[in-house]
Amino acid sequence: MGFDTRIFMGKTGRPISYNMHSFHKIVKKRDFENMKKWKEAFLYLAMGAMLIVTGFLAVRETAFFVTSRQAEIKKTCVVIDAGHGGDDPGKIGINGAAERDINLQVAQKVKMFLEMEGIETVMTRKDEKGLYDSGAENKKVQDMKRRIAMIEETAPEITVSIHQNSYPEEYVKGAQVFYYKDSPESKTAAEIMQKSLKRRLDPENHREAKANASYYLLKKTSTPVIIVECGFLSNREEAAKLAEEDYQEQVAWAVFMGIMQTLNAGK
Ligand SMILES: [Zn+2]
Repeated sequence: MGFDTRIFMGKTGRPISYNMHSFHKIVKKRDFENMKKWKEAFLYLAMGAMLIVTGFLAVRETAFFVTSRQAEIKKTCVVIDAGHGGDDPGKIGINGAAERDINLQVAQKVKMFLEMEGIETVMTRKDEKGLYDSGAENKKVQDMKRRIAMIEETAPEITVSIHQNSYPEEYVKGAQVFYYKDSPESKTAAEIMQKSLKRRLDPENHREAKANASYYLLKKTSTPVIIVECGFLSNREEAAKLAEEDYQEQVAWAVFMGIMQTLNAGK
């Protein structure tokens, strides 16, 4: 706190005596004991004033901090949604890997990259658990509703939901991004993201961003959401890569770059 104690200590550094100079003249006829009481009273008053000023400055500074922080969040907040969790493993890979775990590992890396850029992030889940209560009647519905409530409350510039795909035929592979059919902002973000994934993970991937009309998360949110299916767990080669930390980092980097390009395009 940039607080000038000299006001209360006197310019000579002697406590109060400087400020007490004129005060002494007024009370010089009183006896010494009485004088001591006045001195004490004055000290208490000074201390009270100091506390009020300190309190005022602290409140003002906190208010400023909160205001600037809110402005920052409003400007560049991203929600990262690691799909599935808890009892819901998502797709199970040809190698036995659970989508739930890969989603979280990739999501955490995306968060790390964004935060290194000074971007505020909100994760819908930070651990292996789902967002439902253990006694919930329909865990999947409660989980999804809570994710949506979190996104609505945060109102980010974009939400990126991380998933892994699967298909009955093993040869099918490649990352693909989905967006809600009625959201032009999501469409733009999905196209940017698809390009980033293609360029940074597999230039041979000819998949294109795809509209979707039925995914709950896309339908029920009022801010742009895209779903990134990072790869196919049903493809042996891709499933093996998605389980590796290095490849997860490459995926997260491609997702992060896609987010940055989307944020910059929106400015
Ligand atoms: Zn999924």
